Parts: sequence; structure tokens; C-alpha cells
Amino acid sequence: MDEFRLTIEIGKPSYAQYNTVREAIPRSLWNAVRNHVHERSGHMCEICGKHDPDNLHAHEVWDYDEEAFLLILKEIQSLCKSCHDLKHFHHAVLRIKDRKVRDRVMRKLKRHFMRVNDCTEKEFTRHYYNQLAKSEVEPDARSMEDLLEMNALRERQAFLMRQQWRFVVADQVPFADEIRSQLES
Ligand SMILES: [Zn+2]
Repeated sequence: MDEFRLTIEIGKPSYAQYNTVREAIPRSLWNAVRNHVHERSGHMCEICGKHDPDNLHAHEVWDYDEEAFLLILKEIQSLCKSCHDLKHFHHAVLRIKDRKVRDRVMRKLKRHFMRVNDCTEKEFTRHYYNQLAKSEVEPDARSMEDLLEMNALRERQAFLMRQQWRFVVADQVPFADEIRSQLES
């Protein structure tokens, strides 16, 4: 089990793909939430501590309850660009078309991960593959067992997609009541 301060999140589960608070609430409320988290953090990244008032990102921390079909917004964090890019590592890296630029960004993010977590390159790679394995990225089918496993995975995803998911906003999220009433409307 990784105990890193900064972790990579490969992707949201498909049933949660289009659910972001940022897009579900009015711009003005989102701006208030964002300003609040940046002020609360003293305009510092809540993971690596970088003081970066001009370029902080507000990152939604989600949890999912696949038994009760709940999308749980646990917290909104202030993050620097590098920590935020690592959270969305795939998106941040894969959208870059120029291979040289992409390699440079990847090296930079890898170094940031290693510095923040005080770990080796090998540990970075292991963490990355662990997170990949936990995501819904399907393995290459090689055997009958792989195919059956993929099939079960797909059926489970299709089942989850069909459910009525409800939002839950944790109390520590700034403007939780306002966000809840927006999400319910
Ligand atoms: Zn940071």
C-alpha cells in the first residue's frame, strides 16, 4: 500500500465521468468556493506547500459509494499546477501532441512527484502502475480468464451506469449548503 503524500488519480469511474461540481453550479458560486479554499490555505499548495498565489488550482476530492450509489464530494483542495497535473496525470500528459514537449512535461512531473514524496523513480513507476491497475483501463485479453474478467467488469460498469446516482456534499466543503441546493435543483 502506497503512503504517498501526493498520489496519481488515473480517472474517474465512468458513472462519475460527467459529474463535476465546477460544471454543476453557477460560475459565481464556484468562484466563491475557489477563493475560499485558496485563502484558507494561505495561498499555498495543500500537498507540497508551494506558495503560488497566481497559479493555484481548486481540486475536487471525490469518493464513491457503489452500494448506495452516492457520489461524495469530500473536500476541495488548493493545489499548485504540478500537484494538480499529477492528480490528472493521464489527462495532463496525453493531451500534449508534441512528443518532445510531452516527454519533458512527464520528466518534470515525475521529478515533482519524487521530490514531494521523497521517493525513487522506481517507486514512482510502481505507484503509477498500481493506480493504472485500479482504474477501468482494460487489460489486454490474453486468456479465457482475462476475457471472463473483462466481461464481468463490463457488466458491472453497465449496471453502475444504469443507477440513479445522488450527490453528497461533505460538511467541510466550503459553501456546502449552497452547493447542495444547486445540485438538488
Ligand atoms: Zn503542490
